[in-house]
Amino acid sequence: MERNIEEILALVSGVVADVQGQGKPADYIPALSEVDRSKFGMAISTVDGRDFVIGDAEKRFSIQSISKVFCLSMAIHYSGEALFERVGVEPSGTPFNSLSQLDYENGLPRNPFINSGALVTSDILLEHLGSPNQDFLDFVRGLSNNIDVHYDERVYRSEFDHGNRNAALCHYLKSFGNIKNDISRILDFYFYQCSLSMSCIDLARAFRFLAQDGAHPFREEEVVSRLQARRINSLMMTCGTYDEAGEFAFRVGLPCKSGVGGGIVAIMPGEMSICVWGPELGAKGNSIAGMRALEFFVQKTGHSVF
Ligand code: GLN
Repeated sequence: MERNIEEILALVSGVVADVQGQGKPADYIPALSEVDRSKFGMAISTVDGRDFVIGDAEKRFSIQSISKVFCLSMAIHYSGEALFERVGVEPSGTPFNSLSQLDYENGLPRNPFINSGALVTSDILLEHLGSPNQDFLDFVRGLSNNIDVHYDERVYRSEFDHGNRNAALCHYLKSFGNIKNDISRILDFYFYQCSLSMSCIDLARAFRFLAQDGAHPFREEEVVSRLQARRINSLMMTCGTYDEAGEFAFRVGLPCKSGVGGGIVAIMPGEMSICVWGPELGAKGNSIAGMRALEFFVQKTGHSVF
């Protein structure tokens, strides 16, 4: 496999060059639009502890909704199955920041990987964490084995200043009784999570626990139980790329989680975690180059969960 990984990665840049220019970086959060759209990186971290990188794999970018997996993993660890009484497990089929679905479903978010679901999950986490922003940061630093992971204050501020839709979601959830804490505390915590700045290699390492039944990648401990890891992977497969999850399952066939910063993390259970980054997004908010690179990698290795 090792030689294969290197050989396949060497071909990926050529494949993504074909889709360059087809999308555009997110601009509804102004700070995200300043990114160099020609960047591309990919990193792999295998369960036996080997790392592979190409391109801009060590350059940091805004992880955005990829943070929703960290949030869910922490929350599920504390509250277990009870979490799913307040957040569903069905694909949404609607945009990640949809308000209308919340209305006709009485304030129960479809899943933890759309904005409304992550706001409720953040609310649950606030019940358990003494210093939420610091505890969350420490959790991610531990998973990536990198104390040099930080929040990006500029991105945080930009999200905050343009966060009307998330604020509306939060108010709406609260009107249905599905938010317990102060709205300003939840939004603050949520925007900080989204603003985390990490590289492909940081993320590939940090997500390795989902490729190894919940075992911490760098410590002799469990991040989540084996069953919880399976549940998180299932949710990534069905809901991790919003209303494009069907297309991802069809073309890539791995649990994936994307963010509007252009990153996508994918899990090959029992083998490796993969992170790709390309800032140009398609209409549904997923990285075009990232999706193409994952599709190519899976085709060449012949590995998917199917
Ligand atoms: N911070 C972004 C938002 O709340 C995250 C969305 C995403 O990455 N899909 O809109």
